[in-house]
Parts: sequence; structure tokens; C-alpha cells
Amino acid sequence: MFKTKAAVLYEAKKPLQIETLNQEEPRHGEVRVRTSVAGICASDHHYMIGDNKMPMPVVLGHEGSGYVDSVGPGVQNFKPRDRVITAFISGCANCSYCLSGFVNLCTTSTALNTKQYDGTLRLKKNGNSIHQMQKLGLFSEYLICPQQSLYLLPDEVPMDVAALIGCCVTTGVGAVLNQQASKPGIDIVVFGLGGVGLSAIMGAKILNCNNIIAVDIKDHKLEFAMKFGATHTINSSKSDPIKEIMSITGNGVDMAFDTFGRGSVTNQAIEATKRKGTTVIVGLAPIGDTVNADMIGLCRDQKTLIGSFYGSISPHESFKQIIKHYLKGEIDIRALVERTYKLDQINEAFNDLENGLDGRGIIIYPN
Ligand SMILES: [Zn+2]
Ligand SMILES: [Zn+2]
Repeated sequence: MFKTKAAVLYEAKKPLQIETLNQEEPRHGEVRVRTSVAGICASDHHYMIGDNKMPMPVVLGHEGSGYVDSVGPGVQNFKPRDRVITAFISGCANCSYCLSGFVNLCTTSTALNTKQYDGTLRLKKNGNSIHQMQKLGLFSEYLICPQQSLYLLPDEVPMDVAALIGCCVTTGVGAVLNQQASKPGIDIVVFGLGGVGLSAIMGAKILNCNNIIAVDIKDHKLEFAMKFGATHTINSSKSDPIKEIMSITGNGVDMAFDTFGRGSVTNQAIEATKRKGTTVIVGLAPIGDTVNADMIGLCRDQKTLIGSFYGSISPHESFKQIIKHYLKGEIDIRALVERTYKLDQINEAFNDLENGLDGRGIIIYPN
């Protein structure tokens, strides 16, 4: 049986365990990928601390890049040694969302969750099945995924940059670029400066926004955001962000993005927008969290509140768009990478995320 070393989550609030797992061969339409780089994302962390639920035991990791190792029957578009980005929503090609181009909203993918499209799992330990987050599970040296999860990577894009395009860059840049209200010259505010928030700022730079205001509770994160195109920063633990935003813009921003994902932050984002302004929820809130918005304000000021998931459109379209901007030198995705780890250091990597260090941490595999 094929073996792979992986970090396994058995229970929330317990450390990940590094173990050797058995991996079945790729079935029809599936590909075995040798992982090259995996990003450390807050969405993985939500499951680790019990803020969100996932079948367990599970190999987490949904942001990454790698090399095609082998392909199952019926795979025509990929061959061994191809360089790929993994998309954490792959698309079934049959549901109404996939058929209308919104692969990011595929209902079959959501229903099957950690299982492959034939409804089964590929990893085992002592005869027990182990789940793969989003049909991926990049905290493993090798993974098996549907071929439609993969995006063929141009040679000029390095593996670390490619990995981040797999989740945070697409989520943040896409949330800004792919809305009806998005146009050059608007004022925007981004709440939360993790990988997604910094990527939203990159998106605002691509869009050529006027004021790009970054809000966080840590000064070092605010300073870091200036590298990516923020024109103003506000520490919301030291001053009232709404007052500050009004003094910068006069009457509020055109668009506000909550990349942190908390009802209280979304509420501030709504307050920060001007009449006809749009607030976009980009970060995943803990289960059960709600927005307590001023309804008269929403109505009289004709404000819009929307959600954006995984860049708002098909991930493959987002990847193509972002790679184009990256290759033109318009965005510095690599500047997001602040820390690198080996797979054995994964618990340390998540401690650093929890402690709010700048930028993104990544796991680099020895290949
Ligand atoms: Zn993520
Ligand atoms: Zn679908």
C-alpha cells in the first residue's frame, strides 16, 4: 500500500499528530499529487479549536501547490510532473451552480464534503478511514483529489506563490475585483489583516482604488499592510474606526470588507459605508455568530450586505486572473510569506497564526 506522512486532527483542541497513513490509488478521474507547499490558514485553525465542524479524524490543509505524481483512469488533462495549484472547491460539472459558471458554489462538492466524488475516502490508518479537508488535505506529503481540483501552473509562477493563490489570495483579491460595485477610484476599507485581508488590499490596488483603508488591532499588522497598497491605517483598539474613516472619506467608503468574520466587525463595516455602499463578508465567522445591524440605516441609505466565497466566481477563473496580474508585476504575492516550516513543525505554525504574527506561514515539503 502507498504510504504518506501527514498531520492528522483527531479531536478539536488537541495538537495535530504526525503519522504515516496508507493511501489508496487514484480512482477514475482522480490524481495523486506530491505536495510542494501548503499554506497555514485561519480556516484550518477554526476546525482545530472547534469554532467550525468537520468529520474526524481528518487531514487539514486546503491551500497549496504540488506536482502530479500519478493519474487514475480517465484523466486526460494532467500527466506526472505537471505543476499544479489545488482548488479547494473542485466542482461536479452537474449542479446548477457549476453549469452557470459558479463552481465556487457547487452544491455536490459541499454535500460530499471530505469525500471524493464517488462518495468514498482514500486515506486509512489501522483499517480506519481518514478524511481529507475539502477533498485535498495538503498537510500530507501526497494527496489524492479530483482532477477538476487542479489548475495547471505556468513555469514562471513559483510554488510558494502558487500555494497562496489556492486560498487566501483568491479569496481576498476575488472578493474585491468580482463585485458589481467594484470600479476604479472608489474608497474602500478592509477590516482584518490576515492573509485574506492583505490580499483584499492587493485587489484594491489592482482595481486602482482611491483611499484604501486598513483596520486591525495590531500596529505591526497595520504597518505590514502598507507594503501591499494601504493608503491609511487605523488601529481599532486605540481609536473609533468609524470616526476615523469618516474623517478620511467625508461620508464613508463605497465598499467595506470584513475579512476577519465576526458579527461585530461586519456591523462596523456596514457603518463605515456611505449611502448605496456595499459591505462584503469575506471571513468565516464562528458557527452561530450573527450581525446586529441598524436596519433603518440599511434601508434609508440603500446599503447592500453580501457574502463572498472563494473569490465569488469559479476558482479556475480567479487563478487565471490573479496569475495574469502577478506576472505583470502588479502584485507581490511572495511578500505575504513571512514564515516557513517543515511538516513536523505544524503545531508551532498554528501557534504563530494564533499569536497574530504578520503575513502567511507556509509548510515547505522536501521535493
Ligand atoms: Zn484558507
Ligand atoms: Zn457542482
